[in-house]
Amino acid sequence: MSRITPGTAGLDPAYDVVVIGLGVTGTGVALDAMSRGLSVLAVDAHDLAFGTSRWSSKLVHGGLRYLASGQVGIAHESAVERGILMETTAPHLTHAMPILLPLTSSVGVVQALLARSGFVAGDLLRRGARTTRETLPRPRRISATEALALAPGLRSAGLRGGLLSWDGQLEDDARLVTTIARTAAGLGADVRTRARALRATGTDVTLRDEITGATVCVTARAVVNAAGVWAGDLDADVALRPSRGTHLVLRQNTLPGLRTSVTAPVPGSTSRFVMVLPQPDGTVYVGLTDEPADGPVPDVPLPTEPEIGFLLDVVSAAFAHDLRRSDVVGAFAGLRPLLDAADGQTADLSRKHAVLTSRSGVVTVVGGKLTTYRRMAEDAVDRVVEESLLDAGPCRTRALPLSGAAPRPVLARLEDDPRLVRRFGTDAALVLATARDVTGLSDDELLAPIADHLPTTLAELVFGITHEGAADVDDLLDRRTRIGLVGPDRTLAVPAAERALALVAAASGG
Ligand SMILES: Cc1cc2nc3c(=O)[nH]c(=O)nc-3n(C[C@H](O)[C@H](O)[C@H](O)COP(=O)(O)OP(=O)(O)OC[C@H]3O[C@@H](n4cnc5c(N)ncnc54)[C@H](O)[C@@H]3O)c2cc1C
Repeated sequence: MSRITPGTAGLDPAYDVVVIGLGVTGTGVALDAMSRGLSVLAVDAHDLAFGTSRWSSKLVHGGLRYLASGQVGIAHESAVERGILMETTAPHLTHAMPILLPLTSSVGVVQALLARSGFVAGDLLRRGARTTRETLPRPRRISATEALALAPGLRSAGLRGGLLSWDGQLEDDARLVTTIARTAAGLGADVRTRARALRATGTDVTLRDEITGATVCVTARAVVNAAGVWAGDLDADVALRPSRGTHLVLRQNTLPGLRTSVTAPVPGSTSRFVMVLPQPDGTVYVGLTDEPADGPVPDVPLPTEPEIGFLLDVVSAAFAHDLRRSDVVGAFAGLRPLLDAADGQTADLSRKHAVLTSRSGVVTVVGGKLTTYRRMAEDAVDRVVEESLLDAGPCRTRALPLSGAAPRPVLARLEDDPRLVRRFGTDAALVLATARDVTGLSDDELLAPIADHLPTTLAELVFGITHEGAADVDDLLDRRTRIGLVGPDRTLAVPAAERALALVAAASGG
């Protein structure tokens, strides 16, 4: 059963490392430290993946965009980490995603040539990172007919063809975080949700149990602040200014037959694009905006109507079907951290992460990407090992598969429920066996979609509680699954989540 639990009851008085924040960065740090043989407590004020990590575009970037600005080192690092995720640590949670740049009248000949040479450079990055062509096929020019076969809704007038390239896509960002947390907990990390750090120094952290209100102080040889855009609340030496990125959620039947993601040019601009991203669960995301978000950092950032209107207009210009506000079934926003440097300048940390040791001794790791979380964690743990003189082995995570990971041919041969394999890899059988044991229900009932158009199963919800630390309906619908991204779907799914919670409570005598 889970070592991911809510609250602070039963904590040890001392750990080698305390990690604050259970987004992709904090869970990555917990896994890295644990796998080096250190004792670890990792806490979040809310839940796994409560912050920015669940509001991303869910891409595993190869770093092409950084090449354009000459940042070869960052681009290479991204490509290497993409390869590690897709081929070693998380093949079950990632897949190759085709990306179509339609060559319409708004993409000039010079722009098309530049884009094409960019994709060739992106393929060189892939080769430089030793990621195979089986994992990510090579980019190519396609005809207008093929472009329309992949994206039937595109405006055909003036379409000269398209450029098709490939990058990585996550099954889901919060699922990646949950899987990293479960892997760390499996190695012995103490992972606590609903445990807010009120105060931290390099050697102790005061925590408040967000369920009971009780406070407790734990000591540590090192403390890592991985609180994302909230990192400055814990450490006065870290000053962040966020900017907001918004996505829309559409139903797949709004853009019927879409089999590729599409880069839609922003009309009137030669360098700005909006991505149309089909998702595994029957929705399509449209993003991304970049708006300053000054003022206090909210728990859950909200998109604005002008951002929604902008995204709708760009997609309507690329597709034959004019999108309406009523086509938008959900919208979400995430915050990127900008580091406020002492000289009054800002630095965009969404490119390169930063590891900072403050005067209090807390080590803050902030910025970067989901794609590079492993490298960020390695850098942060290297820093604390060095500064706190911890007796730890070298980083092992480059070759440490996350729970359920296996090479793609092995995953393809599994005979378990395909949806469970997609989300849990080789742990699919464990998910079903756990749900059987806990509920006594038949496989048919455990694997049936929980409602019309909602492919999520009761088996997943039960496992979310028993092995992934979900404590209530919100954890289940908004983070262990992403049903909550569409309001009406969420309403439909609440009874199934409540049922799963009741079944597990009954089985554990609660
Ligand atoms: C709009 C957008 C799209 C993106 N798309 C991509 C993409 O497609 N691919 C990619 O690789 N990257 C992408 N990124 C980048 C990526 O999402 C982030 O870099 C990453 O998720 C940041 O994770 P984090 O763990 O550092 O922060 P967070 O996920 O925000 O985690 C911080 C955690 O700290 C907790 N916390 C805060 N204060 C406290 C406290 N006092 N005590 C305890 N816990 C606390 C919060 O509850 C939260 O869970 C995107 C970013 C944005 C904004």
